[in-house]
Amino acid sequence: MFERSFDQVVFATPPDQVLQLLSDPRPEEVRRFQAWRPNYATTILHCDRQFYEPYGIQKGSEFDFFQTNGGWGYNACLNQLCGITSNQAYSLAFNLNTTIDPAKIIHVQQHHTPFYTVASFQHRDEVIATNGANNTYHVGAYLGDGLHEGAVTSAIEVAQAIGYANAEKPLPSVPSRAGLSLH
Ligand SMILES: Cc1cc2nc3c(=O)[nH]c(=O)nc-3n(C[C@H](O)[C@H](O)[C@H](O)COP(=O)(O)OP(=O)(O)OC[C@H]3O[C@@H](n4cnc5c(N)ncnc54)[C@H](O)[C@@H]3O)c2cc1C
Repeated sequence: MFERSFDQVVFATPPDQVLQLLSDPRPEEVRRFQAWRPNYATTILHCDRQFYEPYGIQKGSEFDFFQTNGGWGYNACLNQLCGITSNQAYSLAFNLNTTIDPAKIIHVQQHHTPFYTVASFQHRDEVIATNGANNTYHVGAYLGDGLHEGAVTSAIEVAQAIGYANAEKPLPSVPSRAGLSLH
């Protein structure tokens, strides 16, 4: 069996994975993480633009929402969003599985995200307040706004906490959560 020792551990996984990875979770860790469950979302990378035609749309925007027989979905134009200069139109679609021509699908990606419920979310502030206890840290979007900014700001805060704890000389200041702007 492979064994290594670490001074500190940072969990940057979806929160439902924390207890699966800890061999000896403390009762308070069980309480904070036991209600989290996984949520799976599937996106499709494709080059189909013809499904816009029945909607009477000649040119899509960066982000278009569609009402479908199954509910709703969105299509993101990657050429516009990511500055792709190719003449080929590339898109990322969510919940448009039956709308997109299978022959135009490049890749299907499953995403593992947190399943937010009142029960799972109620210990969020406690996880933040006790971050670093027992040399164990947690980062992730679920500790912030659930989006990119939440993931980045929580990671900065943990990096800052670990950096300060181990710094031999003062570190430069890092923008606070409220003051951080992302581009
Ligand atoms: C389809 C989709 C569209 C989105 N669009 C936007 C958007 O437009 N704007 C926006 O701000 N946010 C958006 N988000 C949300 C944003 O992407 C996420 O909130 C953010 O990326 C989450 O970052 P994270 O670091 O918390 O988790 P993740 O980026 O999910 O990182 C978790 C990591 O843990 C790893 N992992 C999982 N299990 C284990 C394990 N057992 N052991 C070790 N590692 C493990 C995973 O491989 C992954 O690398 C979108 C999310 C999805 C799914």
